Amino acid sequence: MPGSEFQLIQSYFSDPEQVSRSDLILGIGDDCAIVAPRKQSNLAFSIDTLISGVHFPHNTSADAIAYKALAVNLSDLAAMGAEPAWFTLSLTLPEVMPGNKARDEWLEEFSTALFALASEHNIQLIGGDTTCGPLSITIQISGYVNKDGGMKRAGAKPGDRIVVTGPLGAAAIGLDIALGQNKEHTGCLSEADKQLALRALNYPQAKIKEGISLQGIAHSALDLSDGLISDLRHILIASDVGAEIFLEQLPLSGVLACVDKKTAWEKALTGGDDYELCFTLAEEDWPKVRQQYPEFIAIGMITAEKDLRLLEADGQEFKMQKRGFDHFG
Ligand code: ADP
Ligand code: MG
Repeated sequence: MPGSEFQLIQSYFSDPEQVSRSDLILGIGDDCAIVAPRKQSNLAFSIDTLISGVHFPHNTSADAIAYKALAVNLSDLAAMGAEPAWFTLSLTLPEVMPGNKARDEWLEEFSTALFALASEHNIQLIGGDTTCGPLSITIQISGYVNKDGGMKRAGAKPGDRIVVTGPLGAAAIGLDIALGQNKEHTGCLSEADKQLALRALNYPQAKIKEGISLQGIAHSALDLSDGLISDLRHILIASDVGAEIFLEQLPLSGVLACVDKKTAWEKALTGGDDYELCFTLAEEDWPKVRQQYPEFIAIGMITAEKDLRLLEADGQEFKMQKRGFDHFG
C-alpha cells in the first residue's frame, strides 16, 4: 500500500478508543482479520455499497454518509434477527471531496460518526480497503444468529398478520427535500418537519433489539429499504403466498400529516429508506408482541391467494397513480 494510504488508515481508522471485542483475534493492520466466533451460534453476513449520487445525494454530509452506510448494514442483520459483531469498510475516495471539503476534514467527520454508531452497537471495525475513484462506501458486516434461527423471507403462512415496526414515508419526503423535487408534496411541511424528514433519510435507526426478540416468533421478515410494496413482494414470492394490506392501518409518518391521504399512502407504500422491519407472525402471537412493542402496527394479512391487494376502509381496491401492483409472479 502507498504511504499515504497507510497514513490515512492510521489517522482515521485505527481509533484506539474503538470497541475492542474479545472474539477478535487480529484486527486492522495485517493481511486478514481473524475472529474466534462463539461455538454455539451461527454467523450471518451482509454487505451494502452506497454510491454518491445513486444511494445518497452528492451534497450529503460525511457524518450522514458514515451513519447511513453502517446503519443499512446493521438493518440487514436486524432483519435476520442477528446480533452484529464485526465489520469491514471499503472506501473509494475522489480527488476532490464533496463540497470541495479538505480530505482530512471529510475523513475526520466520517470516521467520528462511524465509530460513534459502531460503539452504540458494540461492533468493531476489523479491516478494509482504500482506493481512489468516485465516492463510494462499502461495508460488510457480520454477526451472530441462533443455530436454529435466522428470520428468512420464506416462511409466511396464510392467516399470518403482517406487521411493521414503525412509521413509514418520512425518508421518501426527506429525499424529495434533499433533491428539491416533488415540491407539491413537501411545500406544506413546517421547517421542523422538513428537518425530521431529512433526519429519517440520513440517520435510519436499525431495529437490532426488535429483530433479536422476534426470533422464533416471526415466520418471515425483512427490512424496508426499497419501499413496503417492493419489499413485501420478496416475502410473498419467497413464501408462495399473497397479501391484503389495509391502508387505513398504515403507520404514516407524522411528517405526512399535511399531505393529502392518497399521496401519503403512496409515500408509505413505495417510498424507500425507512429501514423499519416488516414481518409476519401467527395471529395468536400478535397480542404479546404488540404488548412488548406498542409502536408495532399490524397492516394486513397473508392470504393463500397469490395477489397483493391494497384495500381502502370500504373494501375497495386502491389504485395508485404511480404504478399498480395488482398481480405479481
Ligand atoms: P492489502 O495491501 O493487503 O490489501 P491494505 O493496504 O489494503 O492491505 O490494508 C492494510 C490494512 O489496513 C489491512 O489490515 C486492511 O484491512 C486495513 N484497511 C485498509 N483500508 C481500510 C479502511 N478503509 N478501514 C479499515 N481498515 C482498512
Ligand atoms: Mg487493500
